[in-house]
Amino acid sequence: MAMKPIDEIHKRRTFAIISHPDAGKTTITEKLLLYGNQIQLAGTVKGKKSGRHATSDWMEMEKERGISVTTSVMQFPYQDAMVNLLDTPGHADFSEDTYRTLTAVDSALMVIDAAKGVEERTVKLMEVCRLRDTPILTFINKLDRDVRDPIEVLDEIEDVLNIECAPVTWPIGMGKSFKGVYNLLRDATVLYKTGQGHTIQDVREIEGLNNPELDQAVGADYAQELRDMLELVRGASHDFDLQRFLDGRLTPVFFGTALGNFGVDHMLDGLVKWAPAPQPREAVERKVEAEEPKMTGFVFKIQANMDPRHRDRIAFMRICSGKYQKGIKLKQCRTGKEVRISDALTFLAGERDNVEEAFAGDIIGLHNHGTIQIGDTFTEGEDLRFTGIPHFAPELFRRVVLNDPLKSKQLHKGLTQLAEEGATQVFFPLRNNDVVLGAVGTLQFDVVAARLKAEYGVECRYEPVNVTTARWMEADSERELASFERKAYDNLARDGAGHLTYLAPTRVNLQLTEERHPEIRFLETREI
Ligand code: GDP
Repeated sequence: MAMKPIDEIHKRRTFAIISHPDAGKTTITEKLLLYGNQIQLAGTVKGKKSGRHATSDWMEMEKERGISVTTSVMQFPYQDAMVNLLDTPGHADFSEDTYRTLTAVDSALMVIDAAKGVEERTVKLMEVCRLRDTPILTFINKLDRDVRDPIEVLDEIEDVLNIECAPVTWPIGMGKSFKGVYNLLRDATVLYKTGQGHTIQDVREIEGLNNPELDQAVGADYAQELRDMLELVRGASHDFDLQRFLDGRLTPVFFGTALGNFGVDHMLDGLVKWAPAPQPREAVERKVEAEEPKMTGFVFKIQANMDPRHRDRIAFMRICSGKYQKGIKLKQCRTGKEVRISDALTFLAGERDNVEEAFAGDIIGLHNHGTIQIGDTFTEGEDLRFTGIPHFAPELFRRVVLNDPLKSKQLHKGLTQLAEEGATQVFFPLRNNDVVLGAVGTLQFDVVAARLKAEYGVECRYEPVNVTTARWMEADSERELASFERKAYDNLARDGAGHLTYLAPTRVNLQLTEERHPEIRFLETREI
């Protein structure tokens, strides 16, 4: 029997994984899909070394390098919920897509390598989650190795990330003597068996902390250590509090090993139970509730060449309210144009399929022939513009040099389109004819060069350029902006969308310029 749209919406859990490279994001994703019954055997999602490729590894370059360049979407059912997992590239080289993906989720899972603790990329991604107070669950991974003292890791999370930790499970032993985890909320111990990582395990549970069976199962020393430890943990850490979790102030913490597929299910249970269903979204005009009957959505990502056989570009839209139905007529609010959508894609476990319907919280893919931009809002007719989809100030810059100077027109066209997609940022300095690319991760430059060649027939190379960081300008009056434009002419550029940008040769230069021009606001992000 078909469910009511509101019930479908309330079933949705849309989240992303944030982690530092190598913490175990891919491995966890495999296990999650295993629980979603979408792959028979975990381990087929991606094989960096085995040569098997992830369902999400679409681009050739990803395959060559064994990393995910682009973000993808996976949907799977679990218990009564429908889970949407938005993949974020975890490699050191990553792009703004990663950040923007986090604007399209309602919660996030933070994966921490228990041997390494809080790492740099995680800190950055958490900062982005903080912008919207996204609720965060935490999985502390690799307990099957000799790792750091769990208490120390929790302290580090609290100190560095400024979020309260509420352990839901607690590990017994680690490395070769990893015995299992005790679930503080269920008051039960679940025993770990090695070598079962590819399957959903039949686990043995022991009720109660003082149960003599526990001593038998894990050994009296370990059982006693667990009891002592828990006394300490209960005193020193926080109890789980749903509201504080939803406010983004507290994170439930789970321990385990993704490789051994142990502890992941506790986390998934927590996700479907506690993580929020699709949340309301702010638009310039008003707040939009997920349960509203009319469909609205925004595009947070555009991806090309997902399948080399179809060289199509797909715009990823997060549905914010209502329901998509095949054949629906939507208005693209930026252009005012109406389009009938009959072939949206869905992402059930990485297979791209035409869907008949999709609901708030879901991601659908629209075929894009260059008319859709990141940040575009679609509605059934109302004029709306969703906010909060940022462009980030790039941190890496290169000058583009054409191999064939006669191709300058194609270069401009290609770069402007790639910038619209969010694949890169492009700047045209006022004082000369240079073309400067900006990126958040170095891999973006390679992607752009490869795509310019393949899609626009333009071959180019990069040269270093004396730019350290960029800021978008804003002032209360046009006059102030124009006056600043005259004074700072040599360091100013227009970005792909025509916005005035300050390209700073050094951080010190930026700081001095900011001090000298208090009338100008120097923005690190620009809302699309
Ligand atoms: P990602 O870069 O975050 O996607 O990390 P991967 O999932 O690719 O994992 C990085 C490496 O850590 C791989 O070699 C994994 O096999 C390994 N790994 C992941 N989880 C575990 C774990 O629980 N225990 C151990 N021992 N290794 C793990």
